Amino acid sequence: MKTCKFCKEKVVKLANAHVLPRAYFEYSRRKAKMTKTQSMKLITNTKDQFPIGKVRIGWYDSDLVCAECENRFAPYDNYSPRLLLQNEDHHRQIIVNGDLKGWEIAQFDYEKLKLFVISVLWRAGASQLPQFGKINLSQEELERARQNILNNDSGGDNNFSFIIARFPDDIGQSFMADPHPEYDTDMFAGLNAYRFYIGAGYIVYIKVGTKLFPEPGRSFVVSKETPLRILTRDNFLQSKEADSMRKVMEDADKTLTEIKGVGGKKKQ
Ligand SMILES: [Zn+2]
Repeated sequence: MKTCKFCKEKVVKLANAHVLPRAYFEYSRRKAKMTKTQSMKLITNTKDQFPIGKVRIGWYDSDLVCAECENRFAPYDNYSPRLLLQNEDHHRQIIVNGDLKGWEIAQFDYEKLKLFVISVLWRAGASQLPQFGKINLSQEELERARQNILNNDSGGDNNFSFIIARFPDDIGQSFMADPHPEYDTDMFAGLNAYRFYIGAGYIVYIKVGTKLFPEPGRSFVVSKETPLRILTRDNFLQSKEADSMRKVMEDADKTLTEIKGVGGKKKQ
């Protein structure tokens, strides 16, 4: 028997549950112009996780939740790509002095979007998959997220506050990276927060601690009082990620080459 990490019931078989909706990966694959047989590579800077492998589309975890609990996430998982991907032509561009600063969506379902974010956080925190190894939630945080989902109540603006950003360029929209704690600098200084690359160039910064975002960061927090604002991340090639990713990719290629050379068993 297996135990569902969400409802804690014992079941014969757990669902092959996804942690992130497949639609985001499919979007990134399209941007990366991948063929059906190519696999999405996960970019990670976790040194001991080489080789950077193929990651199954959607980041499935078959040791997480029962089928019934997987269904709890469905309304959020269906809603979020509909809002962020399918209707993206309706995202109003915010242009200041000729520069794209972000996008605005006038109408959105705050509760559904926020519960999507909380459910991704919970799934990544509860999952034992190595790609979520840097998401270390306390028992209190996991339980708070679980209760939010159970009660279909996102718990107010300061509970798991989040900010959304997006790379505007094709390269930024075509890669996947593992989520990690946010760097303790700038508007995240002193906050306990995580950065999730959810695919399609979207980055969600989720604050798990109770300390408030300082200004000006607070004004970017997604709120039900304002339209949804998505900040622009710099062009990927000019971003900090690009440098570390480039290095990681070089290391990964080297490691893969070494592994192929030694064992020859790892499928490329
Ligand atoms: Zn369950």
